[in-house]
Amino acid sequence: MPAIDSLRTLLVEQLKALYDAEKRLTKAIPKLIKNATNDELKSALREHLEQTEEHVARVEHAFDELDLKPKAKTCAGMKGLVEEGDEQVVADYDDDGLRDAAIIGAAQRVEHYEIAAYGTTIAHARLLELDGIVALLEETLDEEKAADRRLTEIAENVVNLEAASSDEEPMPAPSGRQYGSRRGLVIVGRGVGTRASASDRGRVRRSGR
Ligand code: FE
Ligand code: ZN
Repeated sequence: MPAIDSLRTLLVEQLKALYDAEKRLTKAIPKLIKNATNDELKSALREHLEQTEEHVARVEHAFDELDLKPKAKTCAGMKGLVEEGDEQVVADYDDDGLRDAAIIGAAQRVEHYEIAAYGTTIAHARLLELDGIVALLEETLDEEKAADRRLTEIAENVVNLEAASSDEEPMPAPSGRQYGSRRGLVIVGRGVGTRASASDRGRVRRSGR
């Protein structure tokens, strides 16, 4: 690798790593979709897979803006996160809710890594007054943040509750309320009742009395 002698060279190196990271994800996300059980989680991952293909294209456009051919350089960070996720996804779980909770954890680690990487790259592009690249990458950054928020919502509203209900000991909710009443609040108050399992509905009825 040539010496990194300017912010522009550094930016190009960051684009090469992002290009590798995003391409890696287009192969990794399908494995998460395949192993996920919760419908909302599956559809969030499917949607983000489509966005990720667009993210690859935007990095290619960023290379265009610099009159360079797109080139990938192994992103060791993303490679590690994907390896870690692959292991967790195929681990032995007693309950599908637990696997889904692990999948969300793996996906959110990826999103946070991307948010950090795009944030830095955008800051450097802005310093170099490369407005076209800033605009392209900001579009992607917004989608990464939205994907992360959606995963948090799915975890809080459905998946972590399903995972917790597989525990033998009832776990107190962080607020100190019982899970039963919290679950009732989640299902009735937030309108996700259609996604609740039969046992969830039983709990809602009980907690509604
Ligand atoms: Fe991405
Ligand atoms: Zn992403």
